[in-house]
Amino acid sequence: MQSLTVGTASAEPGTRVRGVIPVTNLPGGRPLDIPIIVIHGAQPGPCVWVDAVIHGDEPEGTLACHIVDSRLDPAAMRGSVVLVPVLNVPAYEAAQRGNPLDTFSYDLNRIYPGKADGYLTERLAHKHSVWLREVATYEISIHSGGAHSYLSETIFATTDEKAIELAQAMGRDWKLILKSFLPKGSPPAVMYEAGKQGITVELGGRPATSPADFDRCGRVLADGIMNVLRHYKVIDGAPTYADTWHTGVQHALLAPVSGLFLAEPRLQVQVPMKQGDLIARIVDVYGDLLTELRAPVDGMIFGLRALPNVQTGDWCCFYAEIQGELSRAF
Ligand SMILES: [Zn+2]
Repeated sequence: MQSLTVGTASAEPGTRVRGVIPVTNLPGGRPLDIPIIVIHGAQPGPCVWVDAVIHGDEPEGTLACHIVDSRLDPAAMRGSVVLVPVLNVPAYEAAQRGNPLDTFSYDLNRIYPGKADGYLTERLAHKHSVWLREVATYEISIHSGGAHSYLSETIFATTDEKAIELAQAMGRDWKLILKSFLPKGSPPAVMYEAGKQGITVELGGRPATSPADFDRCGRVLADGIMNVLRHYKVIDGAPTYADTWHTGVQHALLAPVSGLFLAEPRLQVQVPMKQGDLIARIVDVYGDLLTELRAPVDGMIFGLRALPNVQTGDWCCFYAEIQGELSRAF
């Protein structure tokens, strides 16, 4: 067994080490780094790599990384875990989706694998991609609804069997697996192009940041990652699985007009709806109806915007067109 190195962190078998992937310096002189935790098992096995805060307003994944880190004992592991608690540090510091220091490549989740000589965030994506491709066997990108929305437990994956297996390994809380809408530009796309597996998992966002809700999001995400580690036998224990999974594609419903977005009070996420069912009304400042938002096809809502004030073109509703049911891929 050899040591495992990612950036400045080099972990001997059976140990954990913290470090960074250095990117560059910022104008004030401080470094732009990617913090990492390398947990290297005593026995050989796959490397599960977890990325949090690709978007700076989605800190649920950071909490999930902290919980996973606290639960793992490298001496008892077969394989390794790399945790990136905050991938996009300037975006995290600003609590914004993208890095405010870089308006040319603002959205980190659209520019992978990045560029060694590109814009600031492209360089960050490049450094991250190089290590990810080299070290990871499986990658989990954690996202949430961020400042704009709440998203319920949803996985985006490519449709090949091994990616579906990784998605199903998230365990019994994760019953909705949608076809990845980012065939290029994201860390899971880098994994796919390298012949490996990566998935995007979504949970949380601004409407779920009360103490109990935020804690629940962190724990459900961490439980899913621990289940993945059990599934691939990195740690001991019996994994759980959902009985069946809904599969389909995302429709991001954007506001057709500006106004006050009034979702149906009885609306629930991941409950089947029929085409034409009422999702929300948008009214003007006087309370007069401007438009109704209805289910575009049979399916289910898996996320809703956070603020009722809405502007034309804003994200309103994350809707899953259900195309079938999946059984276990393994
Ligand atoms: Zn995101």
